[in-house]
Amino acid sequence: MFSKRIRDLGRSLSFRLTLWYAGVFVCSTLLLLFLFYYYTAFQIIEDMDDDLGEELTEFTSILAEGGVEAVKGYMVIEVDSEVEDTFFRLLTTDGRELKMVSNISLETGQLLQAHIPPVNKNIDKAFVTVEIPDYPHRLRVLSGVIGKGLVLQVGDSFLYHDQVASIFKRLLLLAVFPLFVLSALIGWFLARQALAGVGEVALIADKIAAGDYNQRVRLKKSHLEIQILADAFNAMLDRIQALIKGMKEVTDNIAHDLRSPLARIRGKAEMTIVGDRSPADYRDMAADTVEECDNLIDMINTMLDITEAEAGVGHFEMETVAVNALVLAACELFEPIAREKGITLTTDLPGAPLFCQGDRHQLQRLITNLIENGIKYNRPGGSVRIRAGAKEGWLCIEVADTGQGIAEADLPRIFDRFYRCDPSRSEPGLGLGLSLAQAIARAAGGDIVVSSVVNEGSRFIVSLPM
Ligand code: ADP
Repeated sequence: MFSKRIRDLGRSLSFRLTLWYAGVFVCSTLLLLFLFYYYTAFQIIEDMDDDLGEELTEFTSILAEGGVEAVKGYMVIEVDSEVEDTFFRLLTTDGRELKMVSNISLETGQLLQAHIPPVNKNIDKAFVTVEIPDYPHRLRVLSGVIGKGLVLQVGDSFLYHDQVASIFKRLLLLAVFPLFVLSALIGWFLARQALAGVGEVALIADKIAAGDYNQRVRLKKSHLEIQILADAFNAMLDRIQALIKGMKEVTDNIAHDLRSPLARIRGKAEMTIVGDRSPADYRDMAADTVEECDNLIDMINTMLDITEAEAGVGHFEMETVAVNALVLAACELFEPIAREKGITLTTDLPGAPLFCQGDRHQLQRLITNLIENGIKYNRPGGSVRIRAGAKEGWLCIEVADTGQGIAEADLPRIFDRFYRCDPSRSEPGLGLGLSLAQAIARAAGGDIVVSSVVNEGSRFIVSLPM
């Protein structure tokens, strides 16, 4: 239980963000402090070098004006007036010491001279830093020629430099922990704020998983990214709910459309068992049953075709299809039916052949469905006109009729499976033709749009890739 909590905490985004925030904050603050420290230390050493250089210049003038004795006297005055650890040492260029004055006391009785680097005859002026065992600070030493055959060595301790360094060290040690705690608190607060919406989305997802599909994420106050996530989540839920509703309708419709023919088939079968009819009557009943079964098989096959077309699987081959021939063949097929119903079928095709991409056999089903509807939902003396042409890189086929039209409220639903508008119920049909037509058009990379005016007619336009 406890180890699971630890594991969960390790995987928690808030926790990780907090750690990252605190880590980055502390590291960058420490880096800044380090940079500041190094710059200060560098500046202190540079100031020390400047001071030592000035001393050398001063002693050069004193030697020139008052000679060696004046230099020796001034060395004493200088050391006495210094508060910091310092020394002055006068030598000949071949290394013989003439005078040494210092306020540095080495505990173990060692001689300071033993640690000062020997004079290099060939170099006029040289800085070195020396470390002395048992002496707490390093020494910065400048050796320089101040006159003919004379060298002065001046040294200052790193006391001030070391004091500053120790302040920085203490500051670093004292600051790290409070800085980490403070930045972790800020990080935690920011992470919680940023991820607050995610928790709400997860909560709603749980409720939906429990079966409440009406739930939606409503964020009171949120950041743009979380709002986008919530909107996408809500849009997905709307879509799922619409799909569930659609599926329920389809199931209801299937149940309804299956029940009547099955009841009829059953009734006829019952009659053959109990009735005493002539062989001719039995033959008629068998023929009716065959027809009912054919209709049912037709319905199931069409539903399977729609599903296959929508899923992009099945017998779909993309090929270049000659549209003029396709339209003319479909019209030829329906010409007798149209004539029988007193409806004129006309085509308006350009002289040059038109081509589109798609499955020829499926496109033929699409066109015949539209023409069949144009004839079926028409009035005697009406017309169906089929036009084809290229528009903005698309091949458009228009099927326009002068029939009963479709009410505005029905228009968005006529492509739904099994949907039939009320005025059409007297005509035979399953309500699957347009669903199949739309699925075929979409499978080919195109679409169908419809416009209609009640009692004036409808116009279906299929657009297909060329
Ligand atoms: P079916 O024709 O078998 O009923 P469809 O899917 O082809 O199924 O059409 C669905 C519904 O759309 C039809 O029942 C009808 O109400 C309406 N519809 C389709 N085409 C037309 C049309 N050209 N004119 C008027 N109504 C139409």
